[in-house]
Amino acid sequence: MAHKSKFQAIRGTRDLLPPETGLWNHVEETARKVFGTFGFGEIRPPIFEPSELFGRAVGGETDIVAKEMYTFIDRSEKLARHPRIGELGAFIQAVKKLYDAGEIPRDASNQLAIEHAEAKWSAVENLFLEKEGTKADFENIYDLLAYIDSMQLGSNLSLRPEATASVCRAYIEHGMAQLPQPVKLYYIGPMFRRERPQKGRYRQFYQIGAEVLGGSDAPAIDAEVIEMVMRFFDRLGLAGVELDINSIGHNAPDCRPAYVQKLKIELEKVKDKLGADSQRRIETNPLRVLDSKLEHEQPIIATLPRIADHLCEECAAHYAAVRRQLGLRGVIYKENWRLVRGLDYYMRTTFEITAKGLGSQNAVCGGGRYDGLVELLGGPPTKGIGFAIGEDRLILSLQESGKGAAPQGRDVYIAWMGEHAYAAAIHAAKDLRNAGFSVELPPTELKFGKALERADKLGSRYALILGDNEVSEGSWTLKTLADGTQEKFTEPELLEFLENVRVSGVRS
Ligand code: AMP
Repeated sequence: MAHKSKFQAIRGTRDLLPPETGLWNHVEETARKVFGTFGFGEIRPPIFEPSELFGRAVGGETDIVAKEMYTFIDRSEKLARHPRIGELGAFIQAVKKLYDAGEIPRDASNQLAIEHAEAKWSAVENLFLEKEGTKADFENIYDLLAYIDSMQLGSNLSLRPEATASVCRAYIEHGMAQLPQPVKLYYIGPMFRRERPQKGRYRQFYQIGAEVLGGSDAPAIDAEVIEMVMRFFDRLGLAGVELDINSIGHNAPDCRPAYVQKLKIELEKVKDKLGADSQRRIETNPLRVLDSKLEHEQPIIATLPRIADHLCEECAAHYAAVRRQLGLRGVIYKENWRLVRGLDYYMRTTFEITAKGLGSQNAVCGGGRYDGLVELLGGPPTKGIGFAIGEDRLILSLQESGKGAAPQGRDVYIAWMGEHAYAAAIHAAKDLRNAGFSVELPPTELKFGKALERADKLGSRYALILGDNEVSEGSWTLKTLADGTQEKFTEPELLEFLENVRVSGVRS
């Protein structure tokens, strides 16, 4: 029975426990194996980065950045936490020093706050000698505290809401453009978004993603990346996998912007029939209207112009080639003209994969081409495409279709009795573990019946019975717990027997 404790995991986060973690490990090992066969190497970027990196890469107006990031000021350790009022002069000078050294943000807002705080301090500092103050002095003190409060006394950092931005940052930082192109990287790890928790939606969730950076934008690259995800899902036996693809053109006047203009005009005509969110998006981001899941908007959206009919010649050719390349690879897909990404640097190929058993949160993977992103972050013009898989949802879907993890049993439980036998038991445990068997060695002596009961509860396959007699005779008893049969072995024979059982694959 679960125990109500004083401390609990924060809403939207959770503990992953055995045996479920066995399934997580299996999923991650499979990703490493499959991605490795496609020539991808692992990158492990940090979990927090400057907030501005995500602001640029994900987009300041997106929900992710505007509402859902876990952001904090990494306050300089050189500043007193709670300066007393008489110490504020020294505090302001310390802030100024850090500002000059570039250790806190050198921006207009900090500069102004420091200047004003200095002025206010010089207006009130004598008060602390004379003891008497007027109303104006109190106002000055109040202002002084407000200026200090408005200072940003450290770097503005955020827990990463996604990892593409970090991978691109690392590509630039480590001069990866000098390596043979393209550079193929994958990552596995936690992401953080302050979303409303529900099934398949968490505030700390895990993504498995990959990026191909540099080189060309050959359609074969898009197709191979998609082929790789599908191979991974296939290897896991994920049920009901469906791949949707689309092309959203690129950002030249004769391509996506012309389409967005046309879409806007058509949306204006039906504005009255749309909900409030969609009405707002006509102005802010008309493409996002196509994302709408509202029942009554569906027939209206169905009549809107489709981007595939408005792609420039090059983008249309690229899209046709991606489809052909998917065909060559035997990847089954469905075209979905409503699959869009709202940010400018996303272009051409977009895709999304859904799986069974996930209800409304059924997207397990989203991806697309983002040729402008590295440049936007200050790097050279660089082609890029990638995807992110929601690992939590992937696991949920596997569990729903009966592919959950079996509890981790033990190969051998050592039931020892007597001091003499204990030394032999330690020795046997060491040899068996070195040979790769999982072994449970009880730390204290148990009565024989109790030991067998424990062995059973732990899902052990065998109990190795070691009493003083067995040890002095050099003949050890191995009991098969499923049927109660027993056999006697010398220690070398025992190892040989267990190896044979393993090779014959009775239990992996
Ligand atoms: P995105 O980075 O938003 O394109 O998301 C890629 C994938 O990550 C989605 O298809 C989901 O499977 C997964 N995902 C996104 N947000 C969450 C969340 N809050 N909880 C669990 N999985 C998520």
